[in-house]
Amino acid sequence: MPARGVFAHYREFMDVPAHTVEVTLSEGDTPLIPVPKLAEELGGGFELFVKFEGMNPTGSFKDRGMTVAIGEAHGRQAKTVICASTGNTAASAAAYAARCDMRAIVTIPEGKVAAGKLAGAVAYGAEVIQIDGSFDDALSLVVQISQQHPIALVNSLNPYRLEGQKSAAFEICDTLGSAPDWLCLPVGNAGNISAYWMGFRQYNQHKGTGLPQVLGVQAAGSAPLVLGHPVDKPETVATAIRIGRPARGEQALEAAEESGGRIIAVTDDEILHMQRRLAASGVWVEPASAAGLAGLARQLCEGKMDVRGKRVVGVCTGHGMKDPDIIAKSMPSPQKLPSELRALEDAILGRA
Ligand SMILES: *Cc1c(COP(=O)(O)O)cnc(C)c1O
Repeated sequence: MPARGVFAHYREFMDVPAHTVEVTLSEGDTPLIPVPKLAEELGGGFELFVKFEGMNPTGSFKDRGMTVAIGEAHGRQAKTVICASTGNTAASAAAYAARCDMRAIVTIPEGKVAAGKLAGAVAYGAEVIQIDGSFDDALSLVVQISQQHPIALVNSLNPYRLEGQKSAAFEICDTLGSAPDWLCLPVGNAGNISAYWMGFRQYNQHKGTGLPQVLGVQAAGSAPLVLGHPVDKPETVATAIRIGRPARGEQALEAAEESGGRIIAVTDDEILHMQRRLAASGVWVEPASAAGLAGLARQLCEGKMDVRGKRVVGVCTGHGMKDPDIIAKSMPSPQKLPSELRALEDAILGRA
């Protein structure tokens, strides 16, 4: 039996209208990868896993929510979906809309979307509109459009997105046998942290799987939840979390507090450093995806978290291939050699 995606798998745990249909690309069921080398580098004495959400069909966790949000919209005969996106939501909405022949309109902030994401949205056939403003501006516009026209909003303000995204928490509990002690993840518009917390609580109620403490991590230049006020001009290399007014900010703060966790910020340098460390364990993620574990590293370094004997999961939200430029920029261009065995030998063996 082929996997059928998160809606079919976890249907009984999803609070969705009866008209919701299955529109799937077999999303979910992503690997939970042990990264013992990284755990050692961070001080050791605990178990560390990466939930690699870059392995979803369009390369990010957004697919978990999109399958349900689009399944709901399609089930009530909506013909068009719209979203604002820093890129991954756009690609995901476009793919799932294509699956059921819906029109997808995606708006992106000017000039700040990673190449692989934009290409995805275009490849899947979305109508891409660049807004001369920030993500927050674009979101505010599409919310108004969805209120005034029969066009379904598929940003994470749409509750069915979160219903689908809860499935990642279920999978982690199913794989580990119970919830981890800590969950670390990046926070942008704050839908994902909210969904994880909903998911862990629900599974705990049904199956007694326990609850993790949650560490949400923002980028220092886009850290409204840490600063306690919106950020008008958010900046960070981690474009997927370059958001100054998180739509689900309150819920995120509640999740952190209820879980006995917290929301912190890390610098772009810390994010890029963790991106390299993860790659050194064979897991290449886009910058935003490294933020959760960069936050863990910072907390451990500052002695603010005791993880001895514990199980920690870092959620890596999107694939490194989404944002190749960030690597290309810092990469020396490859050495060039004549097509001669001797020259290649000399280079490999370090002979002059
Ligand atoms: C969307 C996204 C985030 C942020 O998730 P929120 O639900 O907006 O907090 C983080 N990383 C990646 C790769 C994303 O695509």
